[in-house]
Amino acid sequence: MTLPQLASRRGYDSISLYSPDRRPCAIDLSDNTNMWGPAPSALRILREAAAESVVRYPTTYASTLKQALATYLTHVGEHRTGRPIDAGRIVTGCGSDDVIDSAMRAYGEAGERVAIPDPSFAMIPVFARMNALDPVPIALTATYDIDVARTLDANARVTYLCSPNNPTGTPLRRSSVEAIVDRASGLVIIDEAYSEFAGSSFIDLAERSDNVLIIRTMSKAFGLAGLRLGYAVGAPALIANVERSRGPYKVSDIAEKAAVAALGSDVEWVGTIVDRVSENRRRFTECLTVIGAPPLPSSANFVLVPMREAVTVAAALRERGIAVRPFERLACIPNSPLAASGGSALRITIGPWEMLDAVLDALREVLP
Ligand SMILES: *Cc1c(COP(=O)(O)O)cnc(C)c1O
Repeated sequence: MTLPQLASRRGYDSISLYSPDRRPCAIDLSDNTNMWGPAPSALRILREAAAESVVRYPTTYASTLKQALATYLTHVGEHRTGRPIDAGRIVTGCGSDDVIDSAMRAYGEAGERVAIPDPSFAMIPVFARMNALDPVPIALTATYDIDVARTLDANARVTYLCSPNNPTGTPLRRSSVEAIVDRASGLVIIDEAYSEFAGSSFIDLAERSDNVLIIRTMSKAFGLAGLRLGYAVGAPALIANVERSRGPYKVSDIAEKAAVAALGSDVEWVGTIVDRVSENRRRFTECLTVIGAPPLPSSANFVLVPMREAVTVAAALRERGIAVRPFERLACIPNSPLAASGGSALRITIGPWEMLDAVLDALREVLP
């Protein structure tokens, strides 16, 4: 006798598993991680603290990490506001993906809309569907800014913004973000995965408004993607609901200890990485322009290079030992190079110059 197949939650058939090309490659510039390696103090903790970290459960809601993040956000970096940020305004998660997912679940009822700029982070429509929400793509404007009127018209329960935006690398204008925050009826998520590289932040909006969640991660500038450490800053009531939705024990003890060490001791190191990224990005942009493949103006640790046949070009680069991330059907922003390439583009992580030089050599061979 065959049993009837168990039905999953409605809409799950349309969710595809995330499947970037992860085959090992000599030079992997495909995922925007830190090509200079992990934050050194975190690495030291990982080597020393492993044994006693794995037997017991971690702290339920990562209170030690929250405290370290509060100190970091209050005193250091591009997000400094001059006013202390309290640990009660911070929630952590198993990567910032986990925090975004939990926030959608905490605030969206089944069938409600999530407004998402297009193009933007590919995982966001997936998280929306996982939570029975309806993703509504809204094309970026010709200056790669959010379309404020159309975004507000979507009347979404959750509005997602990303600055600098992945995969374009472009920042959103402060006036546009503020207009959304001031007038949106639901939750506004601002993803700042790359803000250390941009040298600016919207964290102050989370202090001013009750409906804003600033999402950040230790995966990129801190070089700790494999540890899965993300966090968000927002009003205490908002943070409490995301924490209810997310559940306990999502940050492992070893990850928490490594992150606390990095936040305490590696902030200067992050600063040197940010400087190298910005210098190499400037130089790489010049060279790409010379070979006829100019990238969009990026303020992140990657560039998006519109070109026809990006998938074919990426395959040819892979044969030469270089992995980059091709996109085929990105939204063709009117009057932009993305429209000219038919939405086809390569996203390339900025790493040490030898790696970028190898990309340039390979592109000279591959491009027509
Ligand atoms: C890389 C990235 C993240 C980080 O995800 P984690 O789950 O923290 O590793 C979040 N948002 C965007 C837009 C990203 O590109």
